[in-house]
Amino acid sequence: MNEEMKPNEADSNDPLGNTDELISQEIPHGVDRRSFLIRSAVGGAAAVMTGNIISAHERIEKAVATLPVLPQQSTSAPPLDPKLNVVQKGKGPVLTTVDEFYKVGPGPSSSHTIGPMRITYDFYQRCTKLPADKLNRATALQVNLFGSLSATGKGTICNMGAEIGATCSIFAYDEKMSAYLKATGREEVAALADGIRDYLRPDKEVYANPEKYYDQVIEIDLDELEPYVNGPFTPDLAWPISKFAEAVKANSWPERLEVALIGSCTNSSYEDISRSASLAQQAIDKNLKTKAEFTITPGSEQVRHTIEKDGFLKTFDKIGGIVLANACGPCIGQWARHIDDPNRKNSIITSFNRNFAKRNDGLAATHAFVASPEIVTAFAIAGSLTFNPLKDTLKNEKGEDVMLDEPTGVELPPKGFSVEDAGYQAPAKDGRGVQVVVKPESQRLELLAPFAAWEGVDLKGLKLLIKAKGKCTTDHISMAGPWLKFRGHLDNISNNMLIGAVNFFNEKTDSVKNQLTGEYGPVPATARAYKAAGIGSVVVGDENYGEGSSREHAAMEPRHLGVRAIVVRSFARIHETNLKKQGMLALTFANKEDYDKVKEDDSIDITGLKAFAPGLPLTMVLNHADGSKELVTLNHTYNEPQIEWFIAGGALNVIRAAVAKN
Ligand code: SF4
Repeated sequence: MNEEMKPNEADSNDPLGNTDELISQEIPHGVDRRSFLIRSAVGGAAAVMTGNIISAHERIEKAVATLPVLPQQSTSAPPLDPKLNVVQKGKGPVLTTVDEFYKVGPGPSSSHTIGPMRITYDFYQRCTKLPADKLNRATALQVNLFGSLSATGKGTICNMGAEIGATCSIFAYDEKMSAYLKATGREEVAALADGIRDYLRPDKEVYANPEKYYDQVIEIDLDELEPYVNGPFTPDLAWPISKFAEAVKANSWPERLEVALIGSCTNSSYEDISRSASLAQQAIDKNLKTKAEFTITPGSEQVRHTIEKDGFLKTFDKIGGIVLANACGPCIGQWARHIDDPNRKNSIITSFNRNFAKRNDGLAATHAFVASPEIVTAFAIAGSLTFNPLKDTLKNEKGEDVMLDEPTGVELPPKGFSVEDAGYQAPAKDGRGVQVVVKPESQRLELLAPFAAWEGVDLKGLKLLIKAKGKCTTDHISMAGPWLKFRGHLDNISNNMLIGAVNFFNEKTDSVKNQLTGEYGPVPATARAYKAAGIGSVVVGDENYGEGSSREHAAMEPRHLGVRAIVVRSFARIHETNLKKQGMLALTFANKEDYDKVKEDDSIDITGLKAFAPGLPLTMVLNHADGSKELVTLNHTYNEPQIEWFIAGGALNVIRAAVAKN
């Protein structure tokens, strides 16, 4: 934390004021319905901030219209909970999680300069130490930060919330968000949100007794928080920088850093880039050059144009940085990876959001680590994973030992954002006459055919396609990289279905038994063989099946290739919902040990579908090859509309029918 900034000092630009001031204001509270609307509005504002949802404007307007007029009251501040007192004593922000979305508690503000990814990783590390039932119950995550991060910093934390299963992570609306909305041309939304700012913060009862409202209160002391490096192979393996070099050596991870990449939708804000550029400038001033390949992927043309105008791109260029296209790019393996031997163990570090095996460059031997853009930049300069920028020196071109100073950043461009062509192409005002014409021989585009509706009977005689062992992320289910060129062609991209998943029975990837021939072959080809024979199939999975990107293809491909049910120990919830949307059965073992009952040659029935209803389990019949049978109870989380999706063969079919009716 900045020494000059006292932790409880209000940011003079922040009308929400400091902790004392905030809690002394009358914070409205009351009926659940109003509470719901308040939360919708908060969610909308946050979504605009991160650029994910376009309907924030209407949602806020709707919220405003429905809110009751508040009586003008003022009360004295209730005493803070001892845990929150640490904020007043200067211990920094408090992060809290709850499993009930609407029990929200965004917080007051104090200024600090720490990078959001540090907080994110520390938070995740603490969360991953929570008991499994706490995490599994986190059907929605609420992050409550008592501090004043930039709007884009909050966006980083919210974006990464998905990594621990959060549907949603929310911060209080504050002046930083207002300023960001205004700086990005959304003055109207900012004005609406400013007008109801009193609603966009927690009830005072929440501040007074957070334990009453939250499942877990996690304190993060910014004064002690170190930068983190995460990985390899998963973003939730978090190492504080002081322990990282030791971990690299102990695990024999390749010490030499080959590529450092900054960017991503989330970690390439103007602030992120300015912090990285400040390190790049230091490298220039201290006669250092990057030792690793260094790439910069701006998250949008607006950011790229602005950082070019403000000279940052030139600074990166001077230390050997290469600017890639504004896109997801290396985050999903779309870049030119230079390597002499693709099977050689090697290390890269990125500020991209995820780093599952093969995700960033398609190579199983690549050890990909994740860190904040500034830490990635520092590693690019050092070229070694055992470098600790907080205490280690580097030898410069003159042979002198030099250290990097703490980076500095600017939240919003002092001369404003600018862009010449943001690349947005508006859709036709009336799309009814628009015809989509696709060349029949195209390998990259294909018109989607509607999936078939449920046949109205229990599913019988399904074949086990694969029993996946261990981690099976959406990257294992539908790999990125070179496959992405087929994103518009469902049949072609389906040739990557589950090719990264490990078959429980032979511990191999992309090698499963075809029960029709007895031979082992690739997963997609085996699924196609069943489909051609008019036989449905079942995928069985382990814990947290489908974690990672909310990749829709990971649900569409099995649907397309005839998989009828995915039965797992537990789901990553976004993927579970994606499966439901595609009309699939997404089911969990009521008894997790029943995973062990599934055998390689099983034919499987799913029964109870005629009575498919919320909260009512289904049954899986395992017909073993020796003629014996076992019954397994399967739970599900379908609500009524989601059951309609299953019956209709997918959510799109339901929408299409509704449109036709109207
Ligand atoms: S692939 Fe996803 S996480 Fe990565 S940059 Fe693109 S949108 Fe962001």
